[in-house]
Amino acid sequence: MRQSRIFLPTLKESPSDAEVASHKLMLRAGLIRKVAAGIYNLLPVGLRVIRNVETVVRREMKRAGAEEVLMPSVLPAELWKESGRWDFYGKELLRLKDRHGRDFCLGPTHEEIVTDMVRYEVRSYKQLPLNLYQIQTKFRDEIRPRFGLMRGREFIMKDAYSFHATDECANAEYQSMHDAYSRIFEGCGLEFRAVEAEAGNIGGSFSHEFMVLADTGEDAVVSCTTCNYAANVERAEIRQPKDEVLSKENLPTIEKISTPNKKTIEEVSEFLGLSKAELVKTLIYEFKKDKDEKGLVAVLLRGDQDLNEAKLMRVLEANEVTLATDALITEVTNAPTGFAGPVGVSISVYADFGVRELSSCVVGGNEVDIHLKNVVPERDFKAKYFDLRIATEGDLCPKCDGVFELRRGIEVGHIFKLGTKYSESMGAKFLDENGKEKPMIMGCYGIGIGRIAAAAIEQNHDENGIIWPFQLAPFKVHIVLVNIKDEESVRVGTELYEAFTEKGLEPLLDDRKERAGVKFNDADLLGLPVRIVIGPKTLAEGSVEVKERISKEASLVKVKDAVGEVLSLLKL
Ligand code: ATP
Ligand code: MG
Repeated sequence: MRQSRIFLPTLKESPSDAEVASHKLMLRAGLIRKVAAGIYNLLPVGLRVIRNVETVVRREMKRAGAEEVLMPSVLPAELWKESGRWDFYGKELLRLKDRHGRDFCLGPTHEEIVTDMVRYEVRSYKQLPLNLYQIQTKFRDEIRPRFGLMRGREFIMKDAYSFHATDECANAEYQSMHDAYSRIFEGCGLEFRAVEAEAGNIGGSFSHEFMVLADTGEDAVVSCTTCNYAANVERAEIRQPKDEVLSKENLPTIEKISTPNKKTIEEVSEFLGLSKAELVKTLIYEFKKDKDEKGLVAVLLRGDQDLNEAKLMRVLEANEVTLATDALITEVTNAPTGFAGPVGVSISVYADFGVRELSSCVVGGNEVDIHLKNVVPERDFKAKYFDLRIATEGDLCPKCDGVFELRRGIEVGHIFKLGTKYSESMGAKFLDENGKEKPMIMGCYGIGIGRIAAAAIEQNHDENGIIWPFQLAPFKVHIVLVNIKDEESVRVGTELYEAFTEKGLEPLLDDRKERAGVKFNDADLLGLPVRIVIGPKTLAEGSVEVKERISKEASLVKVKDAVGEVLSLLKL
């Protein structure tokens, strides 16, 4: 491609609303332009990168035996009502009506649609297993779209769905997708880790996320410093220290203290001059189980630790947990929000293990403007103890003697073992070998195509621009003509251009009427793996200058050796 002909608007400065490197560089290097919050145009070079990601994804999906389909993005509400997600999905689901007033949504994910497609066609175990995938535009009305393609509202996803007759088969496919995903991220030149994850809105029995470790990542991941256990903090289990019998004797008795208007942990700890870890917070939660069974619990955590709602849902066997309203809190505790405590409270108390390790603590007094000190867990209140908190640095690994370190990650892929969640609610059944009707066992597997491109830039850039991993690079070789008026330069440039094209290495030829400085800056910004500079000076020695984007040094190479040198630099 000739650079004089391409639509590649580069920017010297990054726009002020771009916070992270990948977003800034995608704008500056002319890959994307914003249309609305979280909605982008992909310009030609940006689209090339996206297509390159898709090529790697398609290659590995094919290798794993999955078949490509294409489902629509405007989806009828009926299917979402069948699965129950029409009411459950919340505001991320962009709902719309057609001219007849019928409800539709823009697809944020396609479990319902693919299940509907398969349920009418597959009747027998002989037609299973199936793994169907698509690369398609999703819409999620994210509350905080940001970081460019990283968290868009409209974005391209590869989503695959598998259907099985047996659990063994579904588990084998899960492993096969796990392996395919590892090859995809390796193929895209990313450093990543597979971590245990929560299944969230999609549901199902277990799942893994593929995380690209980067300081700007929105997810927090704990990984054991000793073994290979790693998990999203939302998921990570925490090993509890061995039960030490804390001596509860000779401890002072409970004392009421006045804490006027001090409601939050911060306010109380500052007012009393205590660390947050010496306080215990009491959260009143409402929970719902199947068949409209509802209830309230008081949840206790050390003041410096945070509740993991997914863990609470699991121990309560609830489908939904929500913080109680102020009115309900007052009804249960006789005090306004901010003064709830476990002593004498009428509802059941669930506490994190961290609370039991305290010899005494400060808690809310269930009375306005009152807290209690010298409160001894077990002596002064009874609770059921569980692992309820969000894991963090220094917590104990559940698989070995090690401890966690905390890292940040970008979730580029997520695989789920769905089980029969959708096949049961939507009646996707088959007849097994004995003629018995059973629900299909499902898995689903997602990859953010645009997010991979963004993550690749987060991991591979310097102060001058992008450093594309080879596979994703929009062009592989950048041929820069220092002076387009020099006929010999143009001749050699064109010759090399043709030679690289013949080798299948798509080159970009900078034949613009621009100063050399501008061209070099743009070349660094664009970040193609190898740059070849051709000018009267290099040609005077019968040479061109060859430089890898990743290295600081350039070398002079004879014109006739240039192609061979580039191939060897690229290890091709
Ligand atoms: P997140 O936790 O980041 O919101 P998610 O868990 O909701 O993502 P999944 O439903 O697992 O996402 O979607 C599969 C993949 O799609 C994710 O791993 C991610 O790579 C990509 N993805 C999800 N949401 C977005 C988004 N708003 N913009 C770009 N890519 C996204
Ligand atoms: Mg996810």
